[in-house]
Amino acid sequence: MDYSLPVFLAHAIALEREAAERYLELADMMEAHRNDAVSALFRDMVRYSNLHHDSIVARAGSMPLPALKSWEYRWSRPPEAGGEEAFDYMLDPYNALRYARENEMRAMEYYTAVGLNTQDPEVRRLAAEFAAEETEHVEALDDWLARTPRPSAPWRDDPQR
Ligand code: ZN
Repeated sequence: MDYSLPVFLAHAIALEREAAERYLELADMMEAHRNDAVSALFRDMVRYSNLHHDSIVARAGSMPLPALKSWEYRWSRPPEAGGEEAFDYMLDPYNALRYARENEMRAMEYYTAVGLNTQDPEVRRLAAEFAAEETEHVEALDDWLARTPRPSAPWRDDPQR
């Protein structure tokens, strides 16, 4: 898919809005687990996502943007979640961080792929900038994961960790 600037901006706006909503849920979840440190991290991520969202909206200005289908930007759900309700209060801090990391990776890969596939130099520039930001988010989550105890019952099989 070749991304024009309006198509790219519409996706980026939706992606950041989705991230802000999910981080808000995760922050509330961490409060339920009484993990104030990870909760504060997720609230910071809400703020960054909102700031990024607002700056992309400002960049779009009065440009008409296409409507998107939700599957084009939604976060993946945790594998064990049966539905919207099952998502609430089911993740411990470690797995919440892993879940966030997985979605940050998806965002990073998305922006990278756009940058490689677009013919538009401005889209290429912005996509590289956004991919670099997502890489920083992945690295920040990796730092937190290294400091967060892994729960005894695994969220799912993962021989890597
Ligand atoms: Zn991010």
